[in-house]
Amino acid sequence: MKTHVRALVVGGGAVGTSIAYHLARAGWDDVMLLERDELTSGSTWHAAGLLPYFNMSYATTHIHDYSIKFYKTLEEETGLNPGFYVVGNLRMAQTQDRMDEYMLYASTAETCGVPYEWMTPDEIKARWPLVRTDDLKGAIYHPTDGYINPADVTQAMAKGARQRGVAIERKWQVDGYRWTGDHWDVTATKMVEKGGNLIASDEQVTIHAEHVVTATGNHAQRTARLLGIKIPAIPVEHQYIVTEPDPALVEWRKANPEHPVLRDADAKWYVREERGGWILGPYEEGAPARFLYDVPESFRADLFPLDLERIEEEYLSMIHRIPTTEEVGLKDDYNGPICYTPDGNPLLGLAPGLRNMWLAEGFSFGITAAGGTGKYLADLMVEGEAEIDMASLDPKRYGSWMTTEYAARKNEECYSHVYILHHPDEEREACRPLRTAPAYDRQKALGAQFGQVNGWERPNYYGPKDAPTSFDHDARSFRRGGWWQYAAAEAEAIRQGVGLIDATAFAKHTVKGPGATAFLDWFTCNRLPRVGRINLTYALTAHGTVRTEYTIIRTGENAYSLISAGAWAEYDGDFLRKAAEDKIGEFGYIEIAETTSQRGVFAIAGPKTREVLGALIRDPEPETALSNKRFPWLSGRAIELGMCPVYAVRVAYTGELGWELHHPIEMQTYLWDRLMEAGEPHGLKLVGARAQNWLRQEKSYRAFGTELGRDATPLEAGLDRFVDLSKDFHGKEKMVETGVRVRCVTLRIDGPEDADPWGREALYSGTDRVGRLTSGGHSVHFGSSIGMGYVTPEMAAPGTELQVKMFDKLWPATVTEDSPYDPENARIRADG
Ligand SMILES: Cc1cc2nc3c(=O)[nH]c(=O)nc-3n(C[C@H](O)[C@H](O)[C@H](O)COP(=O)(O)OP(=O)(O)OC[C@H]3O[C@@H](n4cnc5c(N)ncnc54)[C@H](O)[C@@H]3O)c2cc1C
Repeated sequence: MKTHVRALVVGGGAVGTSIAYHLARAGWDDVMLLERDELTSGSTWHAAGLLPYFNMSYATTHIHDYSIKFYKTLEEETGLNPGFYVVGNLRMAQTQDRMDEYMLYASTAETCGVPYEWMTPDEIKARWPLVRTDDLKGAIYHPTDGYINPADVTQAMAKGARQRGVAIERKWQVDGYRWTGDHWDVTATKMVEKGGNLIASDEQVTIHAEHVVTATGNHAQRTARLLGIKIPAIPVEHQYIVTEPDPALVEWRKANPEHPVLRDADAKWYVREERGGWILGPYEEGAPARFLYDVPESFRADLFPLDLERIEEEYLSMIHRIPTTEEVGLKDDYNGPICYTPDGNPLLGLAPGLRNMWLAEGFSFGITAAGGTGKYLADLMVEGEAEIDMASLDPKRYGSWMTTEYAARKNEECYSHVYILHHPDEEREACRPLRTAPAYDRQKALGAQFGQVNGWERPNYYGPKDAPTSFDHDARSFRRGGWWQYAAAEAEAIRQGVGLIDATAFAKHTVKGPGATAFLDWFTCNRLPRVGRINLTYALTAHGTVRTEYTIIRTGENAYSLISAGAWAEYDGDFLRKAAEDKIGEFGYIEIAETTSQRGVFAIAGPKTREVLGALIRDPEPETALSNKRFPWLSGRAIELGMCPVYAVRVAYTGELGWELHHPIEMQTYLWDRLMEAGEPHGLKLVGARAQNWLRQEKSYRAFGTELGRDATPLEAGLDRFVDLSKDFHGKEKMVETGVRVRCVTLRIDGPEDADPWGREALYSGTDRVGRLTSGGHSVHFGSSIGMGYVTPEMAAPGTELQVKMFDKLWPATVTEDSPYDPENARIRADG
């Protein structure tokens, strides 16, 4: 066995095997894979092998698309048939809401180039007469996917990997990881069979590995313990049953091809043919999380007992949809562990706090995802970046606040939500409230309907004070939901009067030390602000794309506060800390602290803001304390609001006169009460994140995670004025070299009367697809829909007429100048 490798992959399921294959294919010739048992002996062996395209995420759709295309090439490369049955995939809809969901999904599919077709109930009936269609609205059909044999595809990838020089060692279990400063020493133990169990022998080896990838499936909690980190991947039970041959199906098949994989999403199941019978795979309520701490030694390629009662409803609904199944008995059942994460996306990327340690854990659609995962992770490791932004899959999207109990309960919820209607305004209920700022109870009493950002409760909008608990659930829609009118009134209040937004969830870091200025000058692309001033700036990846957006506040000669998007505290902090460590030789020790939980933030904005704050400010000259002279735009300073010490920052993400009020978290309720009292005479309105999201689009303010990410440079994002090309900074060379492949634009959209875009829709010029929306919403100022997105550079000129695809129709969209609302920033800079 090799003891020195460039990359060691731990785990020989579909995912680990694909990663090893793709690392070799990307040019790494010194790769080894260790598997504690046999290849595929984890979840992979008992998967049903479906390869569904359907996915609401842009990154995941790319991953699935790659897999489906890649698996089709494997036989030619390896001579092994992976057992890919391209039977298509029919996703049926019982309601108009479900059709709306499919139409929104179709936008994502279109932006990724995934083919699909629409079918009416009559067309379904004519083609597949065994399926009952009288209660269907229609279906979306993918002709190019189907199902595969999970073991065969894994063996084919393993053969391909070996052919490319990968060493695959079975019956070796990794038991320890030690980072030496420039490589990992990985301890592995030879496993032996004893009485049907797999037992650790005395034989051990230490492997020197430059990089390690863990793809340990259901063993993720053990991996987390060995690494001393948290990995919220915990499996949930998932069962499917196989019926005896169905005579009607056998008869029908004599003259017809195989049925596509059938999905009745409203009934929460998939069904496919299996040797003349059917496989039913339900995603039922009540499936329990398993292996919260460890997989027992005795659990190898094992299964749990079938729980038929738990899936009775889904079973009956299969009989409803395919009536011939009523007479057919059960032949086989599978109840196995399927790994989940709290949001259902896998954890793919660098581990938090560790060097050269890559996680590929938490796969619930691991057969579908394995191919693409291998490719995009190999790109990240070998090239430093992948062509799609992998942030939504990054393991660091969770913070250290997360616990085993949280992960287990959220993962159970996620499993049972696989087939719910995936409203873009959905907020999931489990494990809430958990992270609440002190003003939470007050906000709730005033009608706040909360969303969750990195565990924090953040008001999305304020509904009626006495709303029933189901209010927000019932308000969701693929079109304009029941919350829309509240958000519109809130947006209006900020434009006309004054509004208060809770922005406590912002990620906050302080950066200090004699070398802090020089370090940040290198780390970020904009000129650093003077003391007491603020800038918007970006940290770039080594490839010159946007890694993080910061509002940077210079509080001293060598002291800074960095504010970034609320959902990304660990993701941003990890990058910042590692960058400072890497540069310690050049800039010395830099003190970095995360203050997210210590500092609350209220954003107050609107033309009447000065009146509200003026009543609270304690200052020798309160009348001028907030004037442009004493408190100019893009400056920050300590002020006192009543008895609360506040660091006030004159910025407003809504594009109106406004301040962010950073305050000690323990004084938050005091400050809240004072603001509410002072605001009352001026009609202060409480405003949530949804209205804020609309308002920022009127100003063309890019948001992290939508317009801003690792697939576009700041120049492509149209942020040239925040890039100081006269200095050297991290990623600059690559950014310049990349040029401008696409451009970020703002569009006014003349869409359907009852809907706004969500920011996933495809953009067209005539019949050519020329881009995609990344944000969407409603503009109260223009009285129309609005959106932001990326188009090819030739389509980016203001005035260009495009179309946006919504609900399967094309709607006119016009590219506007940047900041169509108040382009001169006169309102933000208003004096008083
Ligand atoms: C009933 C059922 C049906 C499913 N159907 C589908 C489907 O139709 N389509 C789909 O896409 N997905 C499906 N899945 C999910 C799919 O099975 C998983 O997502 C996929 O198998 C995960 O692959 P993996 O490589 O991440 O994990 P695994 O296959 O579990 O592989 C992990 C491997 O790591 C090894 N390992 C762990 N720790 C160590 C260590 N310390 N040292 C060495 N080796 C180690 C394990 O032995 C194991 O072989 C289904 C799951 C279930 C339970």
